[in-house]
Amino acid sequence: MLTLSNDNLLAAVRKLVTDERRLTRNILDHINEVDQRRLHVELGYSSIFEWLVKDLGYSESAAYRRMQAARLIRAVPGAAVKVESGELGLSVLAKVQTMIRAEEKRTCSVISQTTKTEILAKVESCSAREAEVHLASQFPDSAPSNVQEKVHAIGQDLVRVELTFTSAQFEKLKRIEELLSHTHLGSSKAALIETAMDVFLEKKDPLRRDVAKPRQPQPLREPAHSEPAPGEPRFGAPPSTQSNTAAALKIGASSADVSVAEGLRKNFNPIGTARQVRPSQKVSVFKNSGGRCEYIDSKTKRRCESRHLLEIDHIQPRARGGTNELQNLRILCRSHNLFAAQKIFGESTMARFRSTLSPYS
Ligand SMILES: [Zn+2]
Repeated sequence: MLTLSNDNLLAAVRKLVTDERRLTRNILDHINEVDQRRLHVELGYSSIFEWLVKDLGYSESAAYRRMQAARLIRAVPGAAVKVESGELGLSVLAKVQTMIRAEEKRTCSVISQTTKTEILAKVESCSAREAEVHLASQFPDSAPSNVQEKVHAIGQDLVRVELTFTSAQFEKLKRIEELLSHTHLGSSKAALIETAMDVFLEKKDPLRRDVAKPRQPQPLREPAHSEPAPGEPRFGAPPSTQSNTAAALKIGASSADVSVAEGLRKNFNPIGTARQVRPSQKVSVFKNSGGRCEYIDSKTKRRCESRHLLEIDHIQPRARGGTNELQNLRILCRSHNLFAAQKIFGESTMARFRSTLSPYS
């Protein structure tokens, strides 16, 4: 490189940047294809974000930008060309996608492809800051607070968290301070919040509850180790996930698609609403799982271990005679519950169901 003339060095950098933009567009296209095929779920990751960070090694911020940018170019295919030309960068795309989702969530409506295309046209060749300003003026009610939440580790056992409360939220904190004034007079805000958190967790966290007759700990079950019953589909995913969904399909089989989706929704049994599973059983199976998704990729043996959107699943489907005995229950995250259901009902049915839950499940 030392032998390059200045002109040749500059030309080489320009060519590398052009190559980088082409590669970036290519990576986004590939991320979208992985997402469409749900390959990350099969590998044991509960989300594209988690796969990008833990499997591909991106930093969290880099993964987030690519995930959001990929979703936006999927929604507005014309944007991909502008990634390649450099008119739209990852940061700008991520900010636009984040704001669009915030606005859609706030208004409970979907922003059209035409509007998204118009938004992108306005932020072309903008810096991330310029795009932020434009987006805030277009969607003032969905714009994030000027003061962002910040979390910093400042020691082995200390984390500094900067929050911005609304007046109503701060009034609640002050009320907690009043209620705890006999025992926590002069306590820090962190101590007050901790006390409130303990009250919540004691009530809501199954890992904190006592169980009358917990089942004996046992090795995690392999997703594909169970031999399917005669006539039962053979899938790479755990056969257990057929239970609730099978019952759900039965409910909606003769109705419109929306009925199927409703049936599926009602029968996926979030941790707090599992039908016919007693609270003590729910707590036991939750504790047995360690409060983490029990899905294991049959090829890599990687366990998901997600702690979000956990649901109770029947190993032997209820629709096929499965019981609510503890040995027949386990915990899956929503992504893996849906993934297994997709194997049973097909992609088209589950795509409709996913759309009723979240476009980012
Ligand atoms: Zn999972």
